[in-house]
Amino acid sequence: MSSQGQASWVVVGLDNGGTSNSATVLDSSGRFLVDELFESPSRVREGPAVAIAALGESLARVLQHTGVPRESVRAVGLGTPGPASADGVICSKGATNFSEPEWHGFDFRAALEGQIDIPVVYNNDGNAAALYAHDSYFGRDAPLRSSVSAIVGTGLGGGVIEAGRVIRGAAGMAGELGHIHIPLQGLLAEDQPVPECNCGLGGDVESIASLTGIEKNLLPYWLERFPGHDLHRAASLAEAARLVRGYGVAEDPLALKIFEQQAMALGRLFTIASNFVDPDAYFVGGGVVEASPEFNQWFLATVRRHTSLRVEQVETVAFALIAHLDMAGARGAALAAVQWLDRT
Ligand SMILES: [Zn+2]
Repeated sequence: MSSQGQASWVVVGLDNGGTSNSATVLDSSGRFLVDELFESPSRVREGPAVAIAALGESLARVLQHTGVPRESVRAVGLGTPGPASADGVICSKGATNFSEPEWHGFDFRAALEGQIDIPVVYNNDGNAAALYAHDSYFGRDAPLRSSVSAIVGTGLGGGVIEAGRVIRGAAGMAGELGHIHIPLQGLLAEDQPVPECNCGLGGDVESIASLTGIEKNLLPYWLERFPGHDLHRAASLAEAARLVRGYGVAEDPLALKIFEQQAMALGRLFTIASNFVDPDAYFVGGGVVEASPEFNQWFLATVRRHTSLRVEQVETVAFALIAHLDMAGARGAALAAVQWLDRT
């Protein structure tokens, strides 16, 4: 930084999604230069070459938008949905957003770096969002704190942060919170079948606490218990699953059953986390808590009620909702790029 406190360099954060890339710029004083969601088409369905070019375009556009010269960019943080290695190689079996064969085993990080000729730092989007949640909640204390974030969307994403940094794991698979088995006794109704996850496990967190879990597992069961319910008239289960949140906000009994089971699943996940990493904070984000303030607080309180902590932990722990989640992927990717610069 110069003597006037002017930022002398920046990093750019790029979050690659199924339809859009989101971009942000973070300057060397720690200030985000983009206040709103800044998006452009991701074109991932057109294959790697088109998608990499689209990310280059996102970079150019966000620099133009903020008036930052390209020479000031020291690094680019990239986030994509997983599964991918810690270095950004897409899983050899592909992934939901990267199903075409050319993506399998594709080195996303290296390809983008080759395209833009700026160092690229990779994190999966769940870890990036967890880093942003951690940093925005703790501020200056972020390097001293730990947290676990669970983000309920189509799947269940998130991450684990220790001393302000993402725990990535040996193979890059740490923080895959959705595929942790949880005890189901007392969570499921007596005659409720064990929920199944797309990963092949029965009764993991994602099989319950995700939009996919609602559609495949929770809604089919609970609809049978509520024969006259409006949602029987939805065009499809997928459509009905998307409508459940609105019913939850209106305190509809069927919807509350579903969200209570989701909150219990997260509470049981956090109970496991409390013994593994004993974090300072637990964060919850995603579509499930993008509802009314009353509903969001009810959901968070229900998660907390189902998290079994020791007395010593209860005294210091925090539970919070992740705000600005739509920008969390890009912002977290940018924060990770700054951490990488600090280390090199
Ligand atoms: Zn799973």
